[in-house]
Amino acid sequence: MPNRFVSAAFLGSLCVFISLLATAQAKEVNVYSFRQEFLVAPIVEAFTAETGIEVNIVFAKKGLINRLEAEGDNSPADLLLTSDFSKLQQAKNKGLTQPVSSDVLNANIPSNLRDEDGHWYALTKRVRAIYASKDRVKEGEITSYEELAYEAWYGRICTRSGKHPYNLALVASMIAHYGAADAEAWMAGIKTNLARKPAGNDRAQVKGIFSGECDLSLGNSYYLGKMLAKEDQKAWADSVRIIFPNQEDRGAHVNISGVTMTAAAKNKAEALAFMEFLSGDVAQKIYAEVNYEYPVKVGVAPSELVASWGEFKSDALNLSEIADLIPAASDLVDRVAYDF
Ligand code: FE
Repeated sequence: MPNRFVSAAFLGSLCVFISLLATAQAKEVNVYSFRQEFLVAPIVEAFTAETGIEVNIVFAKKGLINRLEAEGDNSPADLLLTSDFSKLQQAKNKGLTQPVSSDVLNANIPSNLRDEDGHWYALTKRVRAIYASKDRVKEGEITSYEELAYEAWYGRICTRSGKHPYNLALVASMIAHYGAADAEAWMAGIKTNLARKPAGNDRAQVKGIFSGECDLSLGNSYYLGKMLAKEDQKAWADSVRIIFPNQEDRGAHVNISGVTMTAAAKNKAEALAFMEFLSGDVAQKIYAEVNYEYPVKVGVAPSELVASWGEFKSDALNLSEIADLIPAASDLVDRVAYDF
């Protein structure tokens, strides 16, 4: 009996010791994410199953860059996931990121979709598309962003706020191509053509087309897939045609989602492993199937639905150039009082 007691006690403390050891060695990576949980969760699950590395995530729509800035070196975050390009550049410009070099990332992600110094990497692409009423806009009647400012569309356009990052990036691309004065005239033209004050998200504009309030809108390509998948939004999606603009000339404006390693990262090896996983076949396929985005990795196909929308030519403008013009775009939107 005494022997048994001793051995039970010994085993007990051994267990405590082992579990402490396991805790000390538990591998983890901490992520701040502007991207939503429904999309990130299945990717994390696949990553943890493959590597045993735990992923802790803080999800937020706003404020994560300010939070990183306030936390400084003490930030627990190793990675930042964003749903647009300007936030990656903003984080880099504020000194909140660090360069990463990886053969896997370089092999998976085309060079025009990653920072030249390795501070950020694109993970998906999406077209800033024009949505047109199937009933009231003839096929081929509008083919470019420029035409949105034409008189023919007076009172027929709905968009979300001009200050939303998706629209700011498009405006920045117009400044890059035409200069600030012509881009401003274009934006003022669209403002004149608005059917209503900008409000709501990209999907709310397609709903506006469905309900007959407007005939055209601007929206990211994946929202068509998301609306089709939702019972209460399918009719909105069915009422529109998606148009990839400027296919006869420079190509459609494309934005990206992406990832950057924070300057404060403590779990660098685990963070890099997750970055590489995000750029690999499994995660790229999940992005394509779950959120109808275009994979950045060559050889990973878009979903069948997205593929059915056809191929498109992208504007070759450098993403960094667009990011640098975001403040100018924001000023321009204010000058034409777009949201009022
Ligand atoms: Fe979005």
